[in-house]
Amino acid sequence: MPEPGPPRAIVGYHRDEENHWVARLACGHNQHVRHDPPWILRPWVTHAEGRRAMLGHALACLKCARGEPPDPPPAHPEEPGGEPGA
Ligand SMILES: [Zn+2]
Repeated sequence: MPEPGPPRAIVGYHRDEENHWVARLACGHNQHVRHDPPWILRPWVTHAEGRRAMLGHALACLKCARGEPPDPPPAHPEEPGGEPGA
């Protein structure tokens, strides 16, 4: 199911405390980009190359649709598409 919301470009990635990938969007919101088959299929998020390829790609931002304030910057920022410790 597509999530309704205005398109916002991915500007970077980080992981949450459960090691799920989170995309940082241009609007200042964070959005989980889980690969959780069979429900959510985002195989690109599981490897650095795929994440790099998706930089600048727009995701529908539900938080913008709800008018939520921007999320705080990630506690553990990572290079866009980079692997920590690589
Ligand atoms: Zn947003």
